[in-house]
Amino acid sequence: MSYEAEMFAKMRMPSREEVEEQLLIALFKNGGVVKEFAKGDEVVTQIADFFMLNSEQRSFELQTVYRKENRIKKSNLWNRLLYRAAHSLSKQSFVSLPSQTFKITGQKEWMLTENGFDEALKLRGLPESEKEVLPIKSFEVERYSQRLISKRKPANYKPFSIHEASVKPSLQSVRLRSFRRAVMQAYNCSCAVCGLKLRAPDSEIWEAEAAHIIPHSAKGKDDIWNGLSLCRLHHWTFDVGWFSVANNRKIIVSEKIADLPDESAQMFGNNVLAQLKEKEITLPLNPNLWPDESALEWHRNHVLK
Ligand SMILES: [Zn+2]
Repeated sequence: MSYEAEMFAKMRMPSREEVEEQLLIALFKNGGVVKEFAKGDEVVTQIADFFMLNSEQRSFELQTVYRKENRIKKSNLWNRLLYRAAHSLSKQSFVSLPSQTFKITGQKEWMLTENGFDEALKLRGLPESEKEVLPIKSFEVERYSQRLISKRKPANYKPFSIHEASVKPSLQSVRLRSFRRAVMQAYNCSCAVCGLKLRAPDSEIWEAEAAHIIPHSAKGKDDIWNGLSLCRLHHWTFDVGWFSVANNRKIIVSEKIADLPDESAQMFGNNVLAQLKEKEITLPLNPNLWPDESALEWHRNHVLK
């Protein structure tokens, strides 16, 4: 038995497998990411509390003697066990290594992968469909959304996906969630129409959400050039054709508002649709991220009522 394994046994530490399970749950609770353990005091304490570790178990130091260099290296036993568990999870493709995450996000963190996300849902007894709505990061989605943001728009770009019948559901899910992440990032989590930027008090749930200009039902692509960030009110009213956007960014409101009864669409004494007329939407600073003009044209021709 190695010195380290001997110390795990001697200090009656939980098994690596037990820690792995709790680590997946902690990742899930922390939005999909945890810091490296020496720096991530909160998660280190959370999991130690779950196992009801005593102060000696939390603070015990391993001592490795480097005879040639004539020095002793000390490392915290509990951090070491967490590290072993996280490393084992990365070998099972449930988390990305901090060095891999760093290349995508610039943060040295352990991050759930898509497999790890599925496994955490199972551990919590939640259905896989929750993946679509939970504000939890996954390595694949972070990587793909970065690609969507940084890709240059091709000169012959078309906002329709034509050969998509054979795409696996798991890949479709990654693409859709990456589209949402990329659009939210590009528009700084604000509504392009009214500017509203509002987050839930204790999670990454935002009022604004990524909207497709050409919807999936008409084969619209999951990329930044077919997207707009809109608040809930402006998302559904855009989807049903109460308004659209001209290529010069100006909002065009449906003529059908003239048919609405007087009490309709009123908020604090204003008609929320009429007040959009001729207003300009706010787009990202980088023109490469602006909506494609042919996608907007399609929306004006097929959705605007
Ligand atoms: Zn809005």
